[in-house]
Amino acid sequence: MAVSTSLHSSLRTLRALSSGCVYGPGDHGYDEARMPWNVVDQRPAVVVKPETESDIAFAVAFARESGLRVNVQGTGHNAAPLGDMSATLLIQTGRMRGVEIDAAGRRARVQAGAWWEDVVPQASEMGLAALHGSSPNVGVTGYSLGGGIGYYARKLGLQANSVTAIELVTAEGDLVRADAQHEPDLFWALRGGGGNFGVVTALEFDLYPVEAAYAGMMFWPWERGEEVLGRWAEWTREVPDEVTSMARLLQIPDMPEAPDFLRGKQIAIINAAYLGSEEEGRRIFAPLRELGPEMDLFGMMPPVGLSGLHGDPEDGMPVESETSILDELPHSAIQGVMEAAGPGTGSALLMAELRHLGGAAGRSGEGHGALDRIDGEYVMFAGGLALDDNMRAAVRSDARRLKSALAPYGRGGHYLNFAEHRVEASSAYTTEAHARLRQVRSQMDPEGLFRANHEI
Ligand SMILES: Cc1cc2nc3c(=O)[nH]c(=O)nc-3n(C[C@H](O)[C@H](O)[C@H](O)COP(=O)(O)OP(=O)(O)OC[C@H]3O[C@@H](n4cnc5c(N)ncnc54)[C@H](O)[C@@H]3O)c2cc1C
Repeated sequence: MAVSTSLHSSLRTLRALSSGCVYGPGDHGYDEARMPWNVVDQRPAVVVKPETESDIAFAVAFARESGLRVNVQGTGHNAAPLGDMSATLLIQTGRMRGVEIDAAGRRARVQAGAWWEDVVPQASEMGLAALHGSSPNVGVTGYSLGGGIGYYARKLGLQANSVTAIELVTAEGDLVRADAQHEPDLFWALRGGGGNFGVVTALEFDLYPVEAAYAGMMFWPWERGEEVLGRWAEWTREVPDEVTSMARLLQIPDMPEAPDFLRGKQIAIINAAYLGSEEEGRRIFAPLRELGPEMDLFGMMPPVGLSGLHGDPEDGMPVESETSILDELPHSAIQGVMEAAGPGTGSALLMAELRHLGGAAGRSGEGHGALDRIDGEYVMFAGGLALDDNMRAAVRSDARRLKSALAPYGRGGHYLNFAEHRVEASSAYTTEAHARLRQVRSQMDPEGLFRANHEI
């Protein structure tokens, strides 16, 4: 969009008030500042990179007065659902990555732009684990506001429900602290309701005492996918809550970014963590090991070892994907996965993943937030690279084919953190929770200033 002359001149005022950076289209630095991790061509009317809470408050006031909406991104891992940004001011929090850990109180306080890699290694040194996900480069804030499922999910639940306090700038421009005692409705809504209620400036959350977990990966040639995924699905019905695992079909590109031992391979792979001893871990994982994996990298590791276990790409790239929540995975569902995305299908999906949920991730809890629990036993996520329109169309069609094959095994629910295009947000919540979220939204942001990736 061509920025109007008046917007351009008022940007000068915003720039003078801000200690961070302010960019309009055409400004040097705009192109770098606007780029999200999931490389979509977003072109906001203004990009602000704040350094302080006051910078954020000025940016919010500026947007309101200029008739712009506000989106906030830490990394842009979930930028794709937003679409046209030409009437949106983007607050990019990459300059606010401070982290403080209170080891005795087992609590972390992070600024809005912190990534998991800013938290997990420090906490691990102190014998503590955070409920991070599979990628160290994902932002703590977006992940936590959307739910957050990682390697401890079945034992310790969703990260959103381990958040103890959230500070944010509201649509009115006030800096508010929401916790169980203050602004309890807002505190409830933020934990699972995403970026619909204000600009988060800081988050506090619980850490858990974990010296080491029995964790790792095993893989097989993907021609054995049906047998491996089938055995894994049976095994998940028996394992205790201390085990969280995921099974994937992977087609690893022949690119230097991939580890040498995986480059160019097509495999069926299981990643997991068990919160318990090595001896007990070896016993629990024996049914998988009996299948004779080509490589078995399980062992005891400190929490930081789980950080990169999934092998998620660090550098940003254009990605297309699909997701759905599933209630069960009988053998017919595994056959459906193989027929849609396995050997011989010519599938463009680099990854077709099934994550085991249930356990604490599936249980309601006193004091939980809007995403109290995930109502389903598994979540599917499938995606691939979309470097051009043809690749995007091929990945989209193959991901949809997989989603359709699995549709009989779910009820159409979504986990919004995994939804990388627009989905009906109400499909992520109970009817009551969605109604309450709408009510909190209308109180906190009656004019719809904030534009979350998934709007309530
Ligand atoms: C490679 C990869 C691996 C992943 N692994 C996992 C995983 O293991 N488990 C899991 O649960 N999810 C996972 N995800 C999904 C991830 O949790 C979502 O993409 C999440 O939205 C990322 O948060 P972000 O802040 O990094 O992204 P962003 O795109 O920067 O933010 C997403 C949304 O969060 C909101 N937001 C962010 N910062 C603020 C703020 N300061 N104030 C208000 N709102 C804000 C906004 O609405 C924004 O649109 C993964 C995604 C990718 C691409």
